[in-house]
Amino acid sequence: MKSINPYNNEVVFENTAITIEEVNNAIDASHNAFLKWRTTSMENRSKLFSKLSDVLEENKQKWGKVMTLEMGKPISQAIAEVEKCAWVCRYYAKNADSQLASMEIETDATYSGVRYDPLGVILGVMPWNFPFWQVLRFATPTIMAGNTALLKHASNVTESAKCIAEAFEKAGFPSGVFTFLPIESEKVEAIIKNPKVKGVSLTGSKPAGAAVASTAASEIKPSLLELGGSNALVVFEDCDIENTIGTCINARFQNTGQSCIAGKRLLVQKSIATKFINLLKEKIESLTSGDPLDENTYIGVMVNKEAAEELKEQLDDALNNGAKLITGGKCEGAYLEPTLVTEVTKAMRIFQEETFGPLLACTIFEDDEEAVELVNLSKFGLGVSLFTQDKQRIEKLIPQLDEGAVFVNELVKSDPRLPFGGVGISGYGRELSQEGILAFVNKKTIYIK
Ligand code: NDP
Repeated sequence: MKSINPYNNEVVFENTAITIEEVNNAIDASHNAFLKWRTTSMENRSKLFSKLSDVLEENKQKWGKVMTLEMGKPISQAIAEVEKCAWVCRYYAKNADSQLASMEIETDATYSGVRYDPLGVILGVMPWNFPFWQVLRFATPTIMAGNTALLKHASNVTESAKCIAEAFEKAGFPSGVFTFLPIESEKVEAIIKNPKVKGVSLTGSKPAGAAVASTAASEIKPSLLELGGSNALVVFEDCDIENTIGTCINARFQNTGQSCIAGKRLLVQKSIATKFINLLKEKIESLTSGDPLDENTYIGVMVNKEAAEELKEQLDDALNNGAKLITGGKCEGAYLEPTLVTEVTKAMRIFQEETFGPLLACTIFEDDEEAVELVNLSKFGLGVSLFTQDKQRIEKLIPQLDEGAVFVNELVKSDPRLPFGGVGISGYGRELSQEGILAFVNKKTIYIK
């Protein structure tokens, strides 16, 4: 399994895929580890996750560089990603005990209520775009709840996966509690069908989600899907223009645009459109592109040449159908210039499909009703950002938006304290917060007469 640096096409890491026999042995080991891990105290689990948080902090430069080399993420953003992983560990170390506390429910029984017991071995199938964060976001609450975790990572970031496994080991977790399986996606079906595996969480594309969820459903096992998004950034005429522009830039261009929750569709109210687009163009043109290993680089390269070419195709389709290029548009290897395109209509591919790279597609709207209609036209439903100072508008619009999250005057972001997930073809289930730790538990009803 090769990791190729998309900045210079050099093979940077190589790992060997394991056989199905080795996979089955790892599942047995994970199950055996579960039988002991489920009995450990919350205090013990919290201590281990606090230690894991320290290990991540201590190694953030080294492991950040691994991510940058494997998938082209700018190094400063890679280091920040490891820091965020340390945060999610600290968050659950502090809060899991109360989040998992049994709840008494009054009935005619002497005692009745609900308790939250772990399910067993849970498989995580994860993507390359946030090689550390996606994994820790899944594994931390899952393991904190008393489950054990298996990781099938994207084939191009297996070195990051190895580093995460090393982090768990360094923190002192018992062997088998977190296991990285270097495998191709063809082996995932057999893993889900293994009777010792009790659930699966996938972050990735719709086809991968549909395949994994179908297998899980055929085995009557729970699944959680975090799929793509085509979030709108809705800019109303009463917004604070300067802050809004800065936020929109980050929402679209961080991680070189390769984020499910990126703001991909820019919806701007007609009365401020010209001014807003001119200022935005200036700001986009000032972004620093370059070597992802240079800490001043803000725009790196995309994950590979094919991904950049696919995005260029979506752009060309829009331009051929009447959209107007404001800035950017040049593609070379895995690099696509940060691009802004206007006069985007709802019929265009860049409005309807996910654009997974540094391309912002702008559509103009007249009023609140049209803004809501445009937001909801997408089949995705991960999140939306509204930029306005009008409290009444905010209260009125929030319930009308078919989205997993509404952020006001802020970009949609994942935060350990808040539930994270989508509706529509963005998936189902919620990660993070108390919702995330309850994703893979047996909500066991207790009744004692
Ligand atoms: P993929 O869906 O191709 O890959 C995600 C993971 O699924 C990888 O580990 C991949 O393995 C595996 N996989 C792919 N096909 C199958 C299959 N048929 N059965 C089992 N496993 C499979 O997505 P990308 O890695 O290309 O990531 C980009 C996509 O993920 C985008 O659409 C993006 O929006 C979405 N995404 C969603 C996020 C969210 O939180 N909602 C976050 C990040 C990304 P392998 O690499 O070996 O093929």
